[in-house]
Amino acid sequence: MKLWSSRPSLERYSAQLQPGTAGGGVTAWFLGTSSVLLSDGHTAVLSDGFVTRPGLARVVFGRIAPDERVVRAAIERLGSPPIAAVVCVHSHYDHALDAPVWALSAQAELVGSESTANIGRGLGVPEQSLRVVGEGDTLVYGGFELTFLESEHSPGDRFPGTVDAPLVPPGRSRQWRTGAVYSVLVSHRCGRLLLHASAGFRPGALHGTRADVVYLGVGALGRQPARYVEAYWDEVVRATGARRVVLIHWDDFFVSLDRPLRPMPYPADDLDTTLRRLSTLSARDAVEVLLPVAWQPSDPFGPSGQA
Ligand SMILES: [Zn+2]
Repeated sequence: MKLWSSRPSLERYSAQLQPGTAGGGVTAWFLGTSSVLLSDGHTAVLSDGFVTRPGLARVVFGRIAPDERVVRAAIERLGSPPIAAVVCVHSHYDHALDAPVWALSAQAELVGSESTANIGRGLGVPEQSLRVVGEGDTLVYGGFELTFLESEHSPGDRFPGTVDAPLVPPGRSRQWRTGAVYSVLVSHRCGRLLLHASAGFRPGALHGTRADVVYLGVGALGRQPARYVEAYWDEVVRATGARRVVLIHWDDFFVSLDRPLRPMPYPADDLDTTLRRLSTLSARDAVEVLLPVAWQPSDPFGPSGQA
């Protein structure tokens, strides 16, 4: 009932929640937005690692900075994983705010655009730990091979541009400008996973790329017309032949990760509409669509009981 609540309820989607599993070759932990930790026990890679999640008023009117205590608590809760790389899918604050803190704590490389490197420099990440990647670049960390494919931000980028000098927090949220946007193909002997965090695409860019699973960003997709959603699905999910989609960037990231995830409120997005449209497309193409649960270990390639 849209009339009585300000946001979609997750209750009606309980059957689509990604089950918690362990013991597969690769384990994934979803940390809200497009923050996902992947570990095979020997090596771990992290996308974004945005856990500070400052409140809306601070983001709009104030200045923001990473909360090192929150990052440290997250690292502990995850059992101090052996993170070798922290990858920023683009440089907006809801992706790149905390990434340098993770990289410094784990002595990991900070990977992304020149904008992301400047965000790292602002927090003292050493030059030898900064890795700037371009279209088609591949980096290997243990059993993980990461290939970076340039993509587009979802329509309505509020902070376009690049970060051209070291960004020293605290700063205004708009200072974390987009930089390059990547779709990241993560290959492991257990499977291939495409992390596609922002709901934009370059027509044809993923044709020829194969993935078993897509971690698909749906932020603000509920505000796009149906034909855009279908084009997005076709260019990212259908193009890669994925049989499973795990939805990311649907949660309200102005509240703490210590609370259960909840969808963005209706004026900002409409997860109900997104899920209704995706259910039609996923049924057509026989693809399973799952909603990940924060902090819960799951096997991205393993059986889920849904298919
Ligand atoms: Zn963004």
